[in-house]
Amino acid sequence: MTAESNSRLADKVALITGGTSGIGAATAALFIEQGAKVVIAGRSKDKGQKLADELGTNAVFVAADVTQEEQIAAAVAATVAEFGQLDILFNNAGGPVGAPIDQLTAEHINYGVSLLLSSVILGTRYAIEPMKAAGGGVIINNSSVAALRYRQGDVLYSALKAAVTHYTKMAGIELAPFGIRVNSISPGAIATPIFYGGSGRANKLSDEENQRKMAKLEANLANAVPLKKTGLASDIAEAALYLASEAGRFVNCHDLVVDAGRTSMFYEPND
Ligand code: NAP
Repeated sequence: MTAESNSRLADKVALITGGTSGIGAATAALFIEQGAKVVIAGRSKDKGQKLADELGTNAVFVAADVTQEEQIAAAVAATVAEFGQLDILFNNAGGPVGAPIDQLTAEHINYGVSLLLSSVILGTRYAIEPMKAAGGGVIINNSSVAALRYRQGDVLYSALKAAVTHYTKMAGIELAPFGIRVNSISPGAIATPIFYGGSGRANKLSDEENQRKMAKLEANLANAVPLKKTGLASDIAEAALYLASEAGRFVNCHDLVVDAGRTSMFYEPND
């Protein structure tokens, strides 16, 4: 790889929520490889600090629960304090939120809205001023194929991700005059701890247990897509890099589906 192809995010500063695991962690690693400075935000202090240490001096961990507005604001402020600016925000934190449709409670709904939707709207809101100060920026929201098709997540998760995808398009128009592009990614069937980490809780499994569960998951997920390949966190990191870098300069208000064709498959009701 040439020096130039390794510096697609040179001089850029990114904040990645949910950077302690899965897609967020893979994106942090790729962004740093491409020359960015990255703040990883999440609740798991030990895991986040360990990851930041492994990634080197261009990575910093900030403890933040994105269901809490003041912690989102603090993560943005910490990014600017640490690295002087904010160019890229990846609103990525998320996880399972719901229950079967006849068991949904106000508690599920409030938690789901805070985790999946308010976090995106408030993250965007707090990123606007620093991005304006930097002369522009890029916001990427992690949505889901659940926003597009039935049975890719529970009904509450799916409805909230649909709101994220639509919010992205509206925000991209409102923020375009400031040189801020806003896009979403809709991953499908990506092998990460989201499938076994547990709803609402930080993933407390040991490294060994995570590895065992991940190996099983990777084998199963290959059968979920027509290509018969396992979707990896790095596949979504590459999509985020495209949107965040100059290669994506003409892309705004777009939902980039990365699912190996899963959303184009037809499902029989009993599949
Ligand atoms: P993951 O490995 O479980 O990662 C989820 C991340 O979100 C973790 O870093 C977790 O960090 C963070 N998080 C959860 N609740 C949080 C909170 N309240 N405050 C701050 N951070 C929080 O799962 P993933 O697959 O990478 O998921 C990342 C995003 O992709 C999510 O938005 C998910 O909905 C979306 N997505 C995933 C898939 C897939 O197939 N994997 C498909 C479609 C969409 P802490 O535990 O440290 O807080």
